[in-house]
Amino acid sequence: MKARTMKRKIVKINEDLCNGCGACVTPCAEGAIQLVGGKAKVVRDELCDGAGFCLGVCPTGALTIEEREAPAFDPQAAHAEQARRGKRLLAEACFRCGTGEEEAVLFPCRHQGKSQWVCVRCLPPLIHG
Ligand code: SF4
Repeated sequence: MKARTMKRKIVKINEDLCNGCGACVTPCAEGAIQLVGGKAKVVRDELCDGAGFCLGVCPTGALTIEEREAPAFDPQAAHAEQARRGKRLLAEACFRCGTGEEEAVLFPCRHQGKSQWVCVRCLPPLIHG
C-alpha cells in the first residue's frame, strides 16, 4: 500500500551541484541522505524531517529546502533507522575555538566561503562582530 502524502518541507538535492563529498550524510541524524552512485540522495522521504541541518555543511550549495508532496516525517522509522545504523557520528569541533560537540552545541554555518561548525559561545561574536 502506498503511503499517503502531504505538502510539506523536505530537503532537495541539486545533482548537478553535488560533488559526492558525503559531508551531508553524517549531519542527517535520521539517515534520510545517502550517497548513491556518487551523488547524495534523499533515499526515503519519510526519514527527512525538513529541518535542514545538512544545508550548512554542503560546500557547493547543492542542498535546499523545497515544499512538495511527500509522505509525512515518520519519527518511529527514523528512530529505527538510527538504531539499525548505530552511532556513526564523526566528531566535529568549532572552527574558532576547537570546542567539541561533547562540550557544547555546534551549529553548521557558512563563513568566508567555507562550510564550518561553530559552537554556541562563538556564534554571537561571529554574528555581531
Ligand atoms: S554535502 Fe553537498 S556536495 Fe557533498 S554529498 Fe552532500 S549534497 Fe553533495
